[in-house]
Amino acid sequence: MVVGDISTGTEVLVIGAGPGGYVAAIRAAQKGLDTTLVERDAYGGTCLNHGCIPSKAYITATGLAHEVGNAEEMGIHADPAVDVAGMRDWKDGVVDQLTGGVEKLCKANGVNLVEGTARFDSETKVRVAHGGEGQGSETIEFDHCIVATGSRPMEIPGFSFADEPVLSSREALALDSAPDRLVVVGAGYIGMELSTTYAKLGTDVTVVEMLDSALPGYEDDIARTVRKRAESLGVDFHFGEGAAEWREGNDGGIVVATETDSGERSEYAADDVLVAVGREPVSDTLDLDAAGVETDDRGFVETDDQARTNVESIFAVGDVAGEPMLAHVGSKEGIVAAEVIAGEPAALDYQAIPAAVFTDPEIATVGLTESEAAEEGFTPVVGQMPFNASGRALTTGHTEGFVRVVADEETGFVLGGQIVGPEASELVAELALAVEMGATLEDVTSTIHTHPTLAEATMEACENALGQAIHTLNR
Ligand code: FAD
Repeated sequence: MVVGDISTGTEVLVIGAGPGGYVAAIRAAQKGLDTTLVERDAYGGTCLNHGCIPSKAYITATGLAHEVGNAEEMGIHADPAVDVAGMRDWKDGVVDQLTGGVEKLCKANGVNLVEGTARFDSETKVRVAHGGEGQGSETIEFDHCIVATGSRPMEIPGFSFADEPVLSSREALALDSAPDRLVVVGAGYIGMELSTTYAKLGTDVTVVEMLDSALPGYEDDIARTVRKRAESLGVDFHFGEGAAEWREGNDGGIVVATETDSGERSEYAADDVLVAVGREPVSDTLDLDAAGVETDDRGFVETDDQARTNVESIFAVGDVAGEPMLAHVGSKEGIVAAEVIAGEPAALDYQAIPAAVFTDPEIATVGLTESEAAEEGFTPVVGQMPFNASGRALTTGHTEGFVRVVADEETGFVLGGQIVGPEASELVAELALAVEMGATLEDVTSTIHTHPTLAEATMEACENALGQAIHTLNR
């Protein structure tokens, strides 16, 4: 049946049901605003379907198998058989549970759900094409719109995701068997998380990276710790090499050719090549021009600290609004946009944004590094606690890394922290709270921490910054 063209209206229209969009829609509905959420694919967006959740599911499952198979030191002798298709089914179950939950939550909060692809007709109207033949379209008029269309993996010349052996993170998180050999292009956080995951499945992983180190943007000692661990898992790194092309090999696989700045070429045999060189905004399919919304030269929608675009009625949140492209940042921006639309004085503060990389070991950061603090005019004081001096870390068998805290010498305010080691993604929450609430080193050290826990390392790092550490030598 052709539904035809119908016309409806809403106070708040949200485009995209990822962690930016669905959170914005729920908060807008909670504020009593008539809210409509349009999604063209799956509730939960990249995060739940092809990003954070599937990658963490695989990281946990492969980590578990690897740990059990390498625990002779603890007196455990096992050689677990890994069924990659079974692992994928379990991951799919986790994803289904969460995406179903998002849909139910939206409905329970009174959000109107519309399936289809939205494009702007003007600064107060979108047209939504419903999926499938004969499904028709509808025009939705809005008082305010929140654009939350996210991002997609970037291709590089010569490597099209349409070609079977060329994988984006999306395909790499949906394989039903592990390739024998994988070339990963890009040693950023997605490339590093997936390299480690596949290495633990027994894949021979080669990483090629144009820059001269892994995890650009992270401090050297942190990136080095993770790279060394990946090397110990068998990952082979080649820095200063850009992926140039790929071709079919003679052995049924492929050959990936790389080139250095000076034109030196190398070739690596593989079964698949994963291209993880970054993500670009999904803004080109929205007809933003029809609404007068401006983007920067890479296509990211420009916004202010209230998530407003240059058009009064239109907001943008999440990856489409640019860095930092993180799920929790998108959600926070979504909440701020909804509250601003509801007339509240909400605004974004990017000072205490934690970020985690779920490599082995994990990395987590918040606030300022030592050099950033100095650049901002503070006199930084730094405290550090290595995990190999932590009783709890020793009892888990994971002793690589450290907790580092950066504070202002004069006032003692905690300005930031960097953690590389076990459960860094969980531990950073305490430092994020400290930075957000303006806690001092003494606030953290006078808080009694449970023994034996990894969190004691945060307390010890703060004690170390004060010259009062008990379990490590003071600087
Ligand atoms: P998305 O999640 O991309 O959602 C956008 C939604 O909009 C999609 O569902 C899309 O279908 C829909 N859409 C697009 N255009 C239209 C249209 N015209 N009409 C209707 N609907 C439309 N972040 C973290 O914080 N932690 C992590 O551990 C982490 N791991 C990651 C691992 C991987 C492999 C990847 C790829 C990403 C990871 N991220 C992580 C990043 C995180 O997934 C994104 O930052 C987050 O999903 C962005 O949310 P969003 O709502 O802006 O967009």
